[in-house]
Amino acid sequence: MNGNVHNDGAAKPVAYILLGPPGSGKSTQADLFGREFGAVHVDMGAALRAAAGEATPFGEALSEIINTRRELVPDGIVRAILENELRRIGPSRPVVIDGAPRRESQIPSVMSAIVGSGRELRKAILIDLSEEDAVERISRRYSCGVCGRKLILGADLPTRGSACPSCGSPVSQRADDTEEGVRKRYRIFRDETMPVIDDFEKNGILLRVPGDRSAEEIFGMIASAVRRK
Ligand SMILES: [Zn+2]
Repeated sequence: MNGNVHNDGAAKPVAYILLGPPGSGKSTQADLFGREFGAVHVDMGAALRAAAGEATPFGEALSEIINTRRELVPDGIVRAILENELRRIGPSRPVVIDGAPRRESQIPSVMSAIVGSGRELRKAILIDLSEEDAVERISRRYSCGVCGRKLILGADLPTRGSACPSCGSPVSQRADDTEEGVRKRYRIFRDETMPVIDDFEKNGILLRVPGDRSAEEIFGMIASAVRRK
């Protein structure tokens, strides 16, 4: 930035990146963040799962990677899907990206998609959570297949067989939300995503918040740090 605010109007719209292991509540925080700061939630996990649900050779190959092998998708696919999402949102709105970059080699792709969309990366926010806390949280996580409501066993759902309290439809868990699936995703996070976090930390843009709190407490910490900037 050259400090000449009279030149071409407002400052560049900003992007935030949300990072955290499975179960750290990234989507919830992204939704809260979007409401508070007017940012659009770019949910890369959902975008990739949607692409993996398409009955095309590409969709089937992606489903094999995500749902069967439970591996990270190739960097080129992440970049194409992120660019597509940012194009769909348009250039003027701030965004909060959840689910990328997941490994160090994805940083240039993600940065170039952000910069290419006319935005500036303001902060990378890490929601920290231990593996045992991740397993415990995810084993209680359900969603409604009809209205999409997110439900926590013991809080929103009395038993595993309960129907959606909002619309009465059956609820289900994500295909990769088994204990084995969570532990594998956590291992990938530790091995592949920790270097991403180190990189953002070295660049001075990392904000680290503890994930073993309520969603409201976590968001309070994020919001006050973002407002200070
Ligand atoms: Zn429902």
